[in-house]
Amino acid sequence: THKHQHSHVTLVLPSCDLTEETYQQLARETLEELDWCLDQLETIQTHRSVSDMASTKFKRMLNRELSHLSEMSRSGVQVSEYISSTFLDKQNEVELLPPNQKEQNSAPCQTSGVGVLSEDSRATLPRFGVHTEHEDVLAQELENLDKWNFSIFTVAQLSCNRPLSCIMFAIFQERDLMKTFRMPEDTLMAYVMTLEDHYHASVSYHNSLHAADVTQSTHVLLSTPALKAVFTDLEILAALFAAAIHDADHPGVSNQFLINTNSELALMYNDESVLENHHLAVGFKLLYEENCDIFQNLSKRQRQSLRRMVIDMVLATDMSKHMSLLANLKTMVETKKVTSSGVLLLDHYTDRIEVLRIMVHCADLSNPTKPLAVYRQWTERIMEEFFRQGDKERERGMEISAMCDRHTASVEKSQVGFIDYIVHPLWETWGDLVHPDAQEMLDTLEDNRDWYHSIMPQSPSPPAEQDDVDHFQFHPNIEGDGQDLIQESTVTLWAQRQVTETSLYTFSLSHSPAPWAE
Ligand code: AMP
Ligand code: MG
Ligand code: ZN
Repeated sequence: THKHQHSHVTLVLPSCDLTEETYQQLARETLEELDWCLDQLETIQTHRSVSDMASTKFKRMLNRELSHLSEMSRSGVQVSEYISSTFLDKQNEVELLPPNQKEQNSAPCQTSGVGVLSEDSRATLPRFGVHTEHEDVLAQELENLDKWNFSIFTVAQLSCNRPLSCIMFAIFQERDLMKTFRMPEDTLMAYVMTLEDHYHASVSYHNSLHAADVTQSTHVLLSTPALKAVFTDLEILAALFAAAIHDADHPGVSNQFLINTNSELALMYNDESVLENHHLAVGFKLLYEENCDIFQNLSKRQRQSLRRMVIDMVLATDMSKHMSLLANLKTMVETKKVTSSGVLLLDHYTDRIEVLRIMVHCADLSNPTKPLAVYRQWTERIMEEFFRQGDKERERGMEISAMCDRHTASVEKSQVGFIDYIVHPLWETWGDLVHPDAQEMLDTLEDNRDWYHSIMPQSPSPPAEQDDVDHFQFHPNIEGDGQDLIQESTVTLWAQRQVTETSLYTFSLSHSPAPWAE
């Protein structure tokens, strides 16, 4: 039995005749008692259930906000439908949907698996792993490798459109990973070129440029001062590898589209994180192509551990998992411990992998935190990809997905909504975790948000017709914990991006009785 087998803290009111010594003694004992309580809380892992509650709560808050948004205008309907269908996990709510008119079934969508490659000669290795006639200019841009305002677009231009190969080579070199893991250079190049070939150049957003961007962003986040020396080399390797493969062989359509069209991929993965499972399978399978096994000199245990981490991180890029990631991040911020040198204390594997999962997710959702000129290019690309999916849906007589109809979508409004409801809450919380490291990103994010807001078409859209309002249904959570953990007023604050010091979470913990305490 535990030596402190009592669960109450005795409080004695100090009276005037207490000596200094008794006073000190009392204080020490009280502190010990409190430590014990904290210990108990930590070992029974209440943070798990707390995260779940928070996640549920956030989803409900977002639903409510979106419901207001969709009442405001027709474009509001579309933006909220986009956000809700992409970032909220609707899995268990299917039965709540109104019975749909029977949709036309379409032929399975052909999505290639891992095919045979035709690859250009890899006999001699150029300085940056890729052929370029602009080696010096490329070298100049690569000087910024560790910076947030690095331009992957420039690298793509200078590397014969091999941004992923080029950036992985540069990052692995800078981090000395080839040496640490005894990775032959030619094997690394063979792998990254093969990987790059498995991104579709014809897809306008989810091509190798996006993968290169997420990899470079992850590289920068890994070096954030608050996380200095926190991760092992293997964890760093896993995070970079996960970022590089995280959208491999992306067909340019969403999970929902793949499910709705009975695609081979959806059948293969039973509708669960279809794309993310596929990206992983492709990324790992390519290791077995000729001279591509970059992990050949890792021990069996290292390989196993790396594989587990990579799977974990890439599955977490499924946007329907966003709210639970955010909830975990908030929980982590609330309980964060810092060492004397100001670095985050993450001595358990579960905490480190949680941070890595969130980090790759942040990198995946980092477009709006980049310099405006860069961000705008990403927006153009993702909208074009959405529109092409919409075209396909129109052709097949399917209902066109939110934000995918090129004739009605409101690009500026969707960016403002995307920032307000998704990107800003995420990055703000990340900013709390690594404070003050993310200030640059947050400042840019807010400026960019204001820019998109300022160019939003001002013509007041006519109030949505009854039709439209009916069309978009919100699905209030039915878990019914009966407790409004987070006060109503903060909901609005959150949406207005004004929650600053007191996170929603502290608020909930300090103002309501803990539900498990009953
Ligand atoms: P992924 O598809 O893995 O790259 O995950 C990112 C998802 O976040 C995209 O599919 C979009 O749904 C969303 N997203 C990312 N960037 C933007 C953006 N600039 N505008 C709108 N949605 C975005
Ligand atoms: Mg993805
Ligand atoms: Zn992505």
